[in-house]
Amino acid sequence: MMLHIHFRCPCCHGSQYRTSHFDVSAQNPFGAKCIFCKSPMVTLDNITTQNRAVQISGQISR
Ligand SMILES: [Zn+2]
Repeated sequence: MMLHIHFRCPCCHGSQYRTSHFDVSAQNPFGAKCIFCKSPMVTLDNITTQNRAVQISGQISR
């Protein structure tokens, strides 16, 4: 069974990852790690949320 979830690296925005149960954590329940920079992968939903947070904080600082 393959996971049909699209992950994206928050660091280098790569979409290639490998999964390992050694890397499973509360924030990374699938244990998906970027093969390039070894960052924990996030789902596209999480990236959208993070981008919104950045935009909101940017508006506040201005
Ligand atoms: Zn990466």
